[in-house]
Amino acid sequence: MKKTIRDIDVSNKRVFVRVDYNVPINNELKIVDDSRITATLPTINYLIEHGAKIILCSHLGRPEGQIDPKLSLRPVLARLSKLLDKPISFAEDVLDDSTSEMINNLQSGDILMLENIRFYKQEEANNDAFAKKLASLADIFVLEAFGTAHRKHASTYGIAKYIPAVCGFLVEQELNMFNKVLNNPEHPFVAILGGAKLADKLPVIENLLDKVDTVLIGGGMAYTFIKAIGGSVGMSMIDNSKLELASQILDKAKEKGVRIILPIDNIGAKEFSENAETKKFSSGFFADGYQGMDIGPKTIKCFKKVIKKAKTIVWNGPLGVYEYERFRHGTDKIAKYVAKNKGVSVIGGGDSVAAIQSLGVAKKVSHISTGGGASLMLLQGKKLPCVEMIEDR
Ligand code: AMP
Repeated sequence: MKKTIRDIDVSNKRVFVRVDYNVPINNELKIVDDSRITATLPTINYLIEHGAKIILCSHLGRPEGQIDPKLSLRPVLARLSKLLDKPISFAEDVLDDSTSEMINNLQSGDILMLENIRFYKQEEANNDAFAKKLASLADIFVLEAFGTAHRKHASTYGIAKYIPAVCGFLVEQELNMFNKVLNNPEHPFVAILGGAKLADKLPVIENLLDKVDTVLIGGGMAYTFIKAIGGSVGMSMIDNSKLELASQILDKAKEKGVRIILPIDNIGAKEFSENAETKKFSSGFFADGYQGMDIGPKTIKCFKKVIKKAKTIVWNGPLGVYEYERFRHGTDKIAKYVAKNKGVSVIGGGDSVAAIQSLGVAKKVSHISTGGGASLMLLQGKKLPCVEMIEDR
């Protein structure tokens, strides 16, 4: 168990909170989804109530070490200020003396937000002098950026070398949920994996083989498995360099008594586009020139049965090309079944989270992770480097 803000006296202390306010912002600089902001409110409110002087630090987008006004955190400041019904001061340049002065003038319960920390190239380089400078502005470091906890950056990792470091409530909740499903799951435990990045997903399956009863595979990654067992997949996405590993994983699963269920049928398209001519294919029997874009109705029915009986579910990745509405059907159906399940369900990854949210069933699942990459790393059985910097309780 890692220390949290409950384990340290924050009263009157300068508390540097690394949040992940990397929220989607449209061309009119309006925030499209503020869930990453609202997710940090319990921590911020706790710090206000306990008299901390709060310094908020985040990145937004990929400015790559350059100042980009379109990626300013000002819209985020406005939204947070509204949510808290409280003024928040803003520091443009963390390296300027005026920022230290502003911080020294903070009263208990006051909040100051720093401008996008990735405007400095030292951030992603985890520059030690920069990390030390950030640490010099505060007495305590709080890791609340679960979405960035897998990256060793100055404000997420380097800073923790220099001042006492604890987790915020969001990071605590994320770790508790993943710990619960990975180390103490109720059975049947079902993993649903989709998406395209086979290199990320295969280590997840390998790690889960000792824990789960069933793995349901859909999305682009399924076709490498189907090809590995000798099926024809037409023009579907496959990774030839992973055929051997996919086949080894299928063998290992058999040895361990874990069921890996691949799609039975698929919606194929003549080209990778929303308006392409489509046709249904049984798995392994694709006609030349077609590629798999979504799971088919028989697969949906089969997956539904397995999901219905599950007591624990983890889900990462869409079952089809989620960007195109026409090929979203399988993912949406699976989202509905996962939401209906009364067991523990943990969802991570952009498209699977989007499916749950767009169907309005987010409250019905146990946990929606705020970090795609970080949650994948945990599912792969790895430790998050930034969390490792936090002292044990
Ligand atoms: P990932 O980041 O690994 O979760 O992959 C997400 C991506 O997988 C999305 O952009 C989907 O469009 C893509 N995807 C899902 N199913 C397929 C498919 N059958 N063929 C190609 N891409 C897919």
